[in-house]
Amino acid sequence: MSAAPERAAELVARDARVLWHPYTQHGLERDPLPVVGAAGAWLELADGRRVLDAISSWWACLHGHGHPRIVAAIAEQARALDHVLFAGATHEPAVRLAEELLALAPPDLSRVFYSDDGSTAVEVALKMVAQAWHQRGEPQRTAFIALKGAYHGDTFGAMAAGDPEPFFRAFEPFLFAVLRVEPEAEALQAALEVLGTRAAGLIVEPLVQGAAGMRLYAPEFLRSARELCTRHGVPLIADEVFTGFGRTGALFACQRAGIAPDLLCLGKGLTGGTLPLAATLATEPLFEAFLHTERTRFFPHGHTFTANPIACAAALASLALCREDDVPTRLARIGTRIAAELAPLKEHPSVRELRHLGGIVALELRPRAGERPGYGSARALELRRRALERGVLLRPLGDVLYAVPPACTSAEECALVARTMAALVEGWG
Ligand code: PLP
Repeated sequence: MSAAPERAAELVARDARVLWHPYTQHGLERDPLPVVGAAGAWLELADGRRVLDAISSWWACLHGHGHPRIVAAIAEQARALDHVLFAGATHEPAVRLAEELLALAPPDLSRVFYSDDGSTAVEVALKMVAQAWHQRGEPQRTAFIALKGAYHGDTFGAMAAGDPEPFFRAFEPFLFAVLRVEPEAEALQAALEVLGTRAAGLIVEPLVQGAAGMRLYAPEFLRSARELCTRHGVPLIADEVFTGFGRTGALFACQRAGIAPDLLCLGKGLTGGTLPLAATLATEPLFEAFLHTERTRFFPHGHTFTANPIACAAALASLALCREDDVPTRLARIGTRIAAELAPLKEHPSVRELRHLGGIVALELRPRAGERPGYGSARALELRRRALERGVLLRPLGDVLYAVPPACTSAEECALVARTMAALVEGWG
């Protein structure tokens, strides 16, 4: 064994003694990738291998790893101001980032509340809506509506908004009730009518339900949802933690659908995928529901690292790159390339559906006879392992193989991703 594989094996062995990984079944998954570096679309492993990050490290890495502009912005900001609490203090990176986000976001959003990750951005949105109703004298409005198959994160409010299947059954007794509908106008209308003045708001992942298996739905539903929420006087929360920053081919999926939400949740790609930072954008009327001379009517939510200056600086550098490099168009080109190479597989007996929107490409496979379908499918781990043997990191969502590569992915790298996905389909039947 040469020195590099030995070092890699030693790291994995030490990991196995002390770590507990997210969304990992330690009884089955014993070999985390020992990553020592990353550049562009590639991860470098301790044993000398390189792996193409075709899922942008959980959909976050936007431009590619180690982009020099973001790295420089992080270093410069760390020297100037590393961190300061954000209650009763402010700083240029937070203010400028808020200004820039509001200028790019759909209309009517005028306030930015920072937090740390997608789940907390959702948590903040739900809490803002709930407290605003309370302070407006309608405390009975406690019923949120969400979509079947939704995923909004892992904190308690986000879990409540998400579908209990396949992850959250054990937590059900602790979660507030949410009315769940298919993304169909009639179903939403019926839910709003049933709830009446108990309705608090609607939360959606616009256009794509990522964790549900890159399920797409029609923009018409979002336009109907906007209209219905307005008619019933309840806010529409758009969770763009995944779809934000170009993934669907527009900067925000809401813009692609031509709607303006009342709250917009952002995370993942906000810093280009380099540092944890999230934001919840809200309208002025919502902000005003908290304005008062009584101190405790404020919004009682804040994390230690709210608006961390280094993360804000990374986000500003990432936004500049989004504009200069036209990231949404780049991602759409990447998605089109991969989808075009996979198109012949549409007729393959193992393929149920090929889905493509912007930079997102998914192949849903038919479960094999006797096999458990959905996220729990044992094949997901095998598919992942076989993709890695071909030098590509994929993390299938059960029977759904998908690619969400960063914007730097070249034509040759797209071809490698498509060839790998195709080879996995061929070996599926
Ligand atoms: N919302 C959506 C739509 C997501 O896809 C995710 C994560 O995948 C989240 C929220 C949670 O984000 P985080 O993992 O950063 O907490």
